[in-house]
Amino acid sequence: MAESNSPQHILTMSSEQRQRFLESFDWVFSDIDGVIYNLESDVPDAGLAYSALERAGKRLTFVTNNSVRTLEQTVRRFERSKIQVTPEQIWHPAQTLVYYLRSIQFEGLIYIMASQQFKAVLKQAGFQLLEGPNQFIEETYADLARHIFDKQPVRAVVIDVDFNLTSAKLMRAHLYLRHPDCLLITGATDRLLPVGKGVNIIGPGAFASILVEASGRPPIVMGKPGRPLGDMLLQQNKITDPRRVLMIGDMLAQDVLFGRQLGFQTLLVLTGGCSLSQLRAVTDPDLLPDYYADSVVDLVQLLAESTPKAHG
Ligand SMILES: [Mg+2]
Repeated sequence: MAESNSPQHILTMSSEQRQRFLESFDWVFSDIDGVIYNLESDVPDAGLAYSALERAGKRLTFVTNNSVRTLEQTVRRFERSKIQVTPEQIWHPAQTLVYYLRSIQFEGLIYIMASQQFKAVLKQAGFQLLEGPNQFIEETYADLARHIFDKQPVRAVVIDVDFNLTSAKLMRAHLYLRHPDCLLITGATDRLLPVGKGVNIIGPGAFASILVEASGRPPIVMGKPGRPLGDMLLQQNKITDPRRVLMIGDMLAQDVLFGRQLGFQTLLVLTGGCSLSQLRAVTDPDLLPDYYADSVVDLVQLLAESTPKAHG
């Protein structure tokens, strides 16, 4: 990394730099997994960082690529980390998709590969879904064909996290995408999902890329780093200057890229999917955060040591 564009660790800033940093944003968009907790463990004291940010007058929105949990489950999970939020403060790809489909006045059938929670959000919003095949397929092309060829007028293929994804589902989706009016919509883009220290599993982005490649279609991305999500968040919060947003996250290709594309400031935390050596190896400026921290908890120290601004 060249010295000039190296991200700065927030606790190595001078007191003047800290002050300027703290005054440079009004909104915090924060990722959840890898920042507040991981699959099996919590980031200790993460909640303190968010309460300190709120005390400093920052407005919090949580932006996750994880639609597998319901908003209510996430709110309860946050309570364990001592973070009080309302469902309205949390955004995930299923909600963004509802917002997007309404914005384009989408009508028609949707073929979907996603979790039950994701599908429930769409059904509740009144969209018509098709899914499957969910049964075992005999090893003959005749049986395969019976399960993947379908003449129904599907106008959107949606792929997010589907633990029961099969090759037959991908084949069926690809066949719908032969229709020129059928949209390809992806949710979470993560190609690998960190599940523990140094352990990743294949993420939904890798499966989505099979469809992108096979169909030759650019996907419309509902998760980070997708543009529709960023536009919606700016609109919902009535934000006119994106530089006044600080995006906090643990993933370079999701959180940092998302923030950079939208013109937000970015803070990478090293408690999830990116290590310090991975950060140091970044050469693409779009993946380079403005700041980094060992953990979101570093913000507690930064806020405690900064001089409160004199009012009146
Ligand atoms: Mg994350």
